[in-house]
Amino acid sequence: MNCPRCDVALNEKSLKGIEIDHCPECKGLWLDFHEMDQLEDHSMDDDERKGLMEYARRESDISCPNCYEVMETFNYRANNLPIDHCKNQHGYWLDEGEEKKILEIMKQRVQDLERSSSAEESWSKFLERGGARSFLAKVKDLFTG
Ligand SMILES: [Zn+2]
Ligand SMILES: [Zn+2]
Repeated sequence: MNCPRCDVALNEKSLKGIEIDHCPECKGLWLDFHEMDQLEDHSMDDDERKGLMEYARRESDISCPNCYEVMETFNYRANNLPIDHCKNQHGYWLDEGEEKKILEIMKQRVQDLERSSSAEESWSKFLERGGARSFLAKVKDLFTG
C-alpha cells in the first residue's frame, strides 16, 4: 500500500501492540477499521459509552490506499480533529500525531464519564437516605411554621 499523501510505500510499524502501516515521509498512519477500535480500547473498551465517532462528514482531499476511492473526512468525536476514512470500510488515515490526540481524547472522555457517574452515584445515595424528602420537609416547615 502507498501513502495517500506522498505515494511512497507504507512500512509496518507497531503502535501499542497494533500492527499498522506507517508512511516514512509524512509520518502518517493507516489503521484498518478494527485497528482504530483497538487503539481506542487502550483508553476505553466500552463501545457503548464511546459515543458517536463521526461528526461533520465531508469529502476528503485524499484517496483510500486500498481501493483508491476518494475518502471522507470527519471530525473525530465532535473534537476539532479531522480524520479521513474510507467509505468502503477499509480503514482510517491519521496524519502525524493524530493517533496521540485520539488517545488523549479517549482518556479525557473516560475521566468525564467517571466524574459524571460518581456525581450520579452521590445524588442517588442522597436520595436513598431520604435527602430530598427531608430537604423538602424543611422548606415546607419554613412556610407553615
Ligand atoms: Zn506520506
Ligand atoms: Zn477503501
